[in-house]
Amino acid sequence: MKNQITMKNKKASIKVTIKNKKNKQSPQPTEEKKQKPKVAIISLTSCEGCQFALLDLGEKFLNFAEKIDMVDFRLIEDEEDTGEKLDLVFVEGNPVTKANFKTLEDARKRSKLLVALGNCAAMGGIPEIKNYQEGSNTIKHVYKYIKGVNNPEIREIDNFVKVDFTFPGCPINAEEFLLYIPELLKGKIPAIVDQPVCVECRKKGNKCLLLEGIPCFGPMILGGCDAVCPTARMSCQGCRGLRPKGNVKAMQTALKKMMTDEEFENMTEIYGLRDDIEEKIKNS
Ligand code: SF4
Ligand code: SF4
Ligand code: SF4
Repeated sequence: MKNQITMKNKKASIKVTIKNKKNKQSPQPTEEKKQKPKVAIISLTSCEGCQFALLDLGEKFLNFAEKIDMVDFRLIEDEEDTGEKLDLVFVEGNPVTKANFKTLEDARKRSKLLVALGNCAAMGGIPEIKNYQEGSNTIKHVYKYIKGVNNPEIREIDNFVKVDFTFPGCPINAEEFLLYIPELLKGKIPAIVDQPVCVECRKKGNKCLLLEGIPCFGPMILGGCDAVCPTARMSCQGCRGLRPKGNVKAMQTALKKMMTDEEFENMTEIYGLRDDIEEKIKNS
């Protein structure tokens, strides 16, 4: 017995065949399918980079796919989503169009657990930059002569639906996805350890950028990305979001000795951190 998954995107069409070992002995494929958790991975308005991070797992992703009943995942789908009830839904991107809002509401109604997939869904992400610039006027620079384009203020999905768990990052760390997925498939909510990017950075033996006077958000940002940016001598710009227990006020004071207020604001806007920082400082 073979299961076939067709992976499609605009540029490529790949067919992958998975041998289902269990089915060799069991003549009851429909019963087995019923027992598997029903999962959907949906995207709103996004670059789909977080979904591609999952596909980049290759065989590990196929092993995960064998353990679930994938109801919807447009990068590999070969069937229409039937709208059935779900155990787990992953949501990538921002709700921008009317169709996005409906998809998001439907996802919440259909699923026991709803998980934000990546920085855009969780924090507004790169698209949120426009909120801080010219807001709705920004679209005039992009679509000068086109009318009728949906252009609401960018707001992360937890403004509209309850979010049970978040995979942070831009894009997500796919290995972290594999780490927490077993708990989620059991209907449990995992806890991400509250440690800064600095922990992984120092473990790698990196020379701290801050000590060289280069701004880096690492101490106030949730680790788990293997400190990829500082390892490449680039500042952490906070795509994984603020740590629950990070001292944001102290960090802001330290950073503002290395950069102007405008530079600090610009850096916090890249991944939708600015509103989170303002709120945290207001409540501290
Ligand atoms: S979080 Fe980053 S990779 Fe994921 S959808 Fe948004 S922009 Fe793309
Ligand atoms: S370079 Fe950044 S992430 Fe690394 S230890 Fe220094 S502040 Fe922390
Ligand atoms: S180092 Fe910072 S910006 Fe880079 S991936 Fe990690 S959290 Fe994101």
